[in-house]
Amino acid sequence: TATVIDGKFIADEIRTRIGSEVRRMKEGIGMVPGLAVIVVGHRRDSQTYVRNKMMACAEVGIKSMVAQLPEDCTKDQLLGALSSFDADPSVHGILVQLPLPQHLDEGKVLDVLRPEKDVDGFHPLNMGNLAMRGREPLFIPCTPKGCIEMLLRSGVEIAGKKATVIGRSNIVGLPTSLLLQRHHATVSIVHAFTKNPELITCEADIVVTAAGVPNLVRGNWLKPGAVVIDVGTNPVEDPSSEHGYRLTGDVCYEEAVQVASAITPVPGGVGPMTIAMLLSNTLDSAKRVYAFT
Ligand code: NAD
Repeated sequence: TATVIDGKFIADEIRTRIGSEVRRMKEGIGMVPGLAVIVVGHRRDSQTYVRNKMMACAEVGIKSMVAQLPEDCTKDQLLGALSSFDADPSVHGILVQLPLPQHLDEGKVLDVLRPEKDVDGFHPLNMGNLAMRGREPLFIPCTPKGCIEMLLRSGVEIAGKKATVIGRSNIVGLPTSLLLQRHHATVSIVHAFTKNPELITCEADIVVTAAGVPNLVRGNWLKPGAVVIDVGTNPVEDPSSEHGYRLTGDVCYEEAVQVASAITPVPGGVGPMTIAMLLSNTLDSAKRVYAFT
């Protein structure tokens, strides 16, 4: 059976290192990294994600602040919050918690965020530089970066391997496929229009799935010995659990664990890594601003 890749353990190690780097910065130049989060509306999941990010910042000594805007806020209010964080020199990273309410255009919002503070790595300039050979983005999106970090720290070779990414969203699937190419994998992409996706996944040495569909990836979709990174975080009804639901990935874990050589659990896999990478991007941004090495 597969080795379980413990994302929480790896993320804890990374957070400890970030904590000591933040202390060293504070002692060296009297500055700490700062992260600003803009939330629109009161989606329960968004509120939870934001709270977790704030707590993680506090734990490593990163200063964090939140602008909570009403569900019906105007585009100008949102841009106002963005530009005041943009002008604040103690803020090194700004993120807009997605999804935004329908009436606000996510693309337009990302356009006005300066790439230098785009710690989510979603600005077209950062995304474009990620896609182009010979160029370096200022920030790499957190979830894809966390997936690669888990592979590297688990000793999985990427160069020359076949990788299949399931999903092509701007925040996970697309940047993950670009990042795997940067690491010299041969990458196939499967999405909602793909016919017979299992024929593509079963050739892959590495499968990263971010479709948002519980139990999509069955054991017989996998090549024996494949490494499986499950980004899916899907609430499914479960009367026996405290809130009436539990989180499950895109992978049918019980089947996959029999076939794969390594697999990430949900929860406790990619989720904790995403937050660790956000802290890491914020620290890197502050280091860049203060030229602190
Ligand atoms: P999305 O809905 O924006 O994109 C889903 C992608 O999957 C699309 O490209 C779609 O074409 C593809 N897809 C949908 N159904 C499919 C199917 N049946 N077969 C093949 N492809 C299919 O979602 P997203 O924002 O990319 O998130 C994907 C999943 O990852 C969700 O479960 C989300 O909760 C989770 N997520 C987890 C983290 C984390 O930190 N762990 C971060 C972001 C997203």
